[in-house]
Amino acid sequence: MNQMKAVVLRAPQDAVVELVEKPDAGDNDVIVRVSACGLCGTDLKIFSGEYLSPYPLIPGHELAGTIVSVGSGVDSAWIGQRVAVDPTLACGHCEFCQDAQFNHCESWGAIGDTVNGGFAEFTRVPMANIYRIKDRMPFNLAALVEPVSCAVWALERMRIRPGSRALIFGAGPMGLILMKLLANAGVMRVTIVDTSLERLTVAKSYGAHDILQSDTLDQLQYSAPKGFDLVVDATGNPNVLSIALPWVRKAGQLLLFGVSPQGATATIGPYLIYHNEITILSSMAINHSYGRALNIVEERGGEFRSLITHELPLNDYLRAISMMKEGKGIKLQLSMDTVG
Ligand SMILES: [Zn+2]
Ligand SMILES: [Zn+2]
Repeated sequence: MNQMKAVVLRAPQDAVVELVEKPDAGDNDVIVRVSACGLCGTDLKIFSGEYLSPYPLIPGHELAGTIVSVGSGVDSAWIGQRVAVDPTLACGHCEFCQDAQFNHCESWGAIGDTVNGGFAEFTRVPMANIYRIKDRMPFNLAALVEPVSCAVWALERMRIRPGSRALIFGAGPMGLILMKLLANAGVMRVTIVDTSLERLTVAKSYGAHDILQSDTLDQLQYSAPKGFDLVVDATGNPNVLSIALPWVRKAGQLLLFGVSPQGATATIGPYLIYHNEITILSSMAINHSYGRALNIVEERGGEFRSLITHELPLNDYLRAISMMKEGKGIKLQLSMDTVG
């Protein structure tokens, strides 16, 4: 059997689940039998054609599974190992890679974004992207390491002072993961804002200290009259920037974490940034933060597991995409071990 089942995006908006040829491992690659692969906002952009992906493409960049074969340059002892995958593909020799800024690599790519990925029974992964996971770590949790590693990099970008307070716009999986990491890093109070009461209810049960619907933001003048040390946009909605800025405390930081559409513009007042000495930061993907994210998930897996609200069979890729568009659930994953 040289064939496998995979989600194939033949062109934007045109996905099928079909039999395709199994990938072969290059010298320094391994073949992973995928067990779980998560979806995120980037998958919606890849589906609709708003990303740098080539087509046809097998998407899926948040994956974990078992190594079933290895290339000639890889120790065969790896066969049978349970692993999680850092999807980042960086050339290693451009100016930015040589300066340890792999997420700015001039030929940056990612498994499932620019080359075939994890919404398939098998996928090819360079050995450099492989992380062994403990036997007791379930694959669905291991597939969460990727979004956690984006949040770990975001934390490294910020200056976090113990005892400070944070305001996060967006109660999606990234906002909630960031909330957990900030709280673990010493932020005393995290307030989450969202348009959806359903998501806010999840955020509250997940540990948000305060929740607020976006149309009642003026209430913050009572609970945080001087603003927040850290304000994060985890929505990617360009309008959030001007709404968020006035809530940054003097000498505080504003982090752009959500992915806004390319070419979108926002109006903000430079005087406030100048006068209040506000630092504006952004964080893009993963920069050698995957291994530490794995440590976090290993130690605190229970805190993250409840984010996985849906595990669907590979055949349900299109259903998962429409559920995400409707804002259903928190983290959706496709599970190759689920029959459907
Ligand atoms: Zn993702
Ligand atoms: Zn590079």
